[in-house]
Amino acid sequence: MCGRNPHTFVIMTIGGFQKFTLIDYPGKLSCIIFLSGCNFRCPFCYSTELVLPEKIKNHPKLNKNNIIDYLRDRQGMLEGVVICGGEPTLNSDIEELCHDIKDLGYSIKLDTNGSNPDILKKLIENKLIDYIAMDIKAPLDPERYKKAVGVNVDIETIKKSIELIKTSGIDYEFRTTIVSGIHSDEDIILIAESIAPAKRYFVQQFISEKTIIDISLKDKKPIPYEKLEKALARVINLFDVCKIR
Ligand code: SF4
Repeated sequence: MCGRNPHTFVIMTIGGFQKFTLIDYPGKLSCIIFLSGCNFRCPFCYSTELVLPEKIKNHPKLNKNNIIDYLRDRQGMLEGVVICGGEPTLNSDIEELCHDIKDLGYSIKLDTNGSNPDILKKLIENKLIDYIAMDIKAPLDPERYKKAVGVNVDIETIKKSIELIKTSGIDYEFRTTIVSGIHSDEDIILIAESIAPAKRYFVQQFISEKTIIDISLKDKKPIPYEKLEKALARVINLFDVCKIR
């Protein structure tokens, strides 16, 4: 589970499409495009059909043109498109996809694990994205990150993405899924202090419902909500918005 090159690009494969969402792009009626392929193997990942090559292979693939047609038909009704994964920045055609969506007048929100700051920079500089949500998987220490994402990570790339996003001038949020067995409530403080000051930081509690990469995590008792609240209270002033969701 280690040693993957985070910059190995994959041919764009659309592994899912959700026609409508009210909750995934703040303030915008949106749809979601799921791109297959990921360079991380987070033990708690529940999008295994978009991450594990053996599952991607057997998962239905969608045609980009059909999605573009759908967006053309919904112009003036839908406002935004969320591009998520897997890890969408690994897809060689992501810029082209963003261009196609932008040409139709939509705003784009990108969900990323932050491992690919070079592509992130290009997308920002070319004004192809309007909102970024970056997962901060663990405190910014190589060993802690490796435990949370299942592979070796160059922690400098993660730090680079954080700075890039904060200085991009576009809207953004950072977020962490807290997983019992991987994180403690104190990790919220370590993470918050390393990304602060920033606009938004959200913490979500991991609740195992679907198939995940490491099924042993299913038996772990979640960290009590009150403990998360207490930890968050200590860092809430570092952000414009900071909450559990
Ligand atoms: S949770 Fe981890 S493994 Fe799953 S898609 Fe996100 S970054 Fe990839």
